[in-house]
Amino acid sequence: ITVTELVEESYKRIDEVDDQVQAFLTLNKEAAIAKAAELDNVRGSDESKLFGLPIGVKDNIVTKGLRTTAGSQILSNFEDPLYDATVVNKLNDAKSVTIGKLNMDEFAMGSSNENSSYSAARNPWNTDYVPGGSSGGSAAAVAAGEVPYSLGSDTGGSIRQPAAYCGVVGLKPTYGRVSRFGLIAFASSLDQIGPVTRNVEDNAFLLETIAGHDKMDSTSANVEVPKYTEALTGDVKGMKIAVPKEYLAEGVAAEVKEAVQSALKEYEKLGATWEEVSLPHSKYALSTYYLLSSSEASANLARFDGVRYGKRAEDAETMLDMFMRSRAEGFGDEVKRRIMLGTFALSSGYYEAYYKKAQQVRTLIKNDFEKVFQDYDVIIGPTTPTPAFKVGDKVDDPMTMYANDILTIPVNLAGVPGISIPCGFSSAGLPIGLQIIGNHFEEGTVYRAAHAFE
Ligand code: GLN
Repeated sequence: ITVTELVEESYKRIDEVDDQVQAFLTLNKEAAIAKAAELDNVRGSDESKLFGLPIGVKDNIVTKGLRTTAGSQILSNFEDPLYDATVVNKLNDAKSVTIGKLNMDEFAMGSSNENSSYSAARNPWNTDYVPGGSSGGSAAAVAAGEVPYSLGSDTGGSIRQPAAYCGVVGLKPTYGRVSRFGLIAFASSLDQIGPVTRNVEDNAFLLETIAGHDKMDSTSANVEVPKYTEALTGDVKGMKIAVPKEYLAEGVAAEVKEAVQSALKEYEKLGATWEEVSLPHSKYALSTYYLLSSSEASANLARFDGVRYGKRAEDAETMLDMFMRSRAEGFGDEVKRRIMLGTFALSSGYYEAYYKKAQQVRTLIKNDFEKVFQDYDVIIGPTTPTPAFKVGDKVDDPMTMYANDILTIPVNLAGVPGISIPCGFSSAGLPIGLQIIGNHFEEGTVYRAAHAFE
């Protein structure tokens, strides 16, 4: 098969299903087909494993010359970015082909894709259901066979939760593992870019390609990138698994618990052992996350004022009027809600009570994980309390929507890596995700555990 055929196959599939799945916001067809032809000409001279492979990129990752909206109207006219994000540069160096930009909740705020200001992506298993979010397009595109690989971003669960809902593999790397240069920031102390794929091996390979230190991102870690694919030995004999009792507590659906329990039995058969542990501060994770992430978002989103960045409102009378109208017209309700919450939490007089307190609790949550990792190799539990829910079911109730991420958020607060892999189906025929969490920079261990089960 030629690269051209492969890339055309991807667009053919998009033509067939994307009217329904709505995973893509922008296609890169002309440029991708031209690039495929170029690659066909140099074929054989390049050993890269990603050579010629179609990839979809979440729309909050900046792509040179290709529209980048972050799911927001305020960036609807950001048609021609001047640079590529570091991860995109790395994909280009590996000779992969960017097929298009993937649908997402506006500025990555959401758990269902219903906050996309363009259209809500759907779950390919059943389009009455949400694909999850905010990287809903990234997971749906892979699940629907539109692309074999995609990139997502995860601030509080946005790679793992949609991966779980769509039955694909999604990893949030250790904070600092992957450069955030060119990722439109939501909450800078939590955001990480990560791979979404059909299987663990592809995932490990994609992470190998995008990870590493970057002088353009001062929070990227100067830690060597191991060959993650070499960790996929299938051997988990003697591996020590911790199962937090808080992750199988009330609120987690019975069929999700059963799927996780049968996964643990599988691990026992493979020679691993597991024990129940406690992450006692888990119950504070959700409120801690919404305080910190909204505070950081309120600062990060200040730049979208119609002058420095973002679409400018027309016919404004004064400068202030122009700022206010640009932001009022450009941002959706959820984004405004977070900006208001964050601005409030950072206001003088409230900072000590909210932001500072939340930072202190974050440390306690991080310590919980550190303690467990002194004795165990990985932590295993469900990715989400329930399988995918129906489109429209939670859209009017931010609190139940937020509760979706109760099992993924602590991982971002601690900065450790976590993966979601498929571990069964619900009675409604929807996928269930198993979450495997590792210690800092232990993606290799996470992949080894994931691969052995797969
Ligand atoms: N659903 C969470 C939120 O709305 C997580 C989003 C994310 O990880 N980007 O903030």
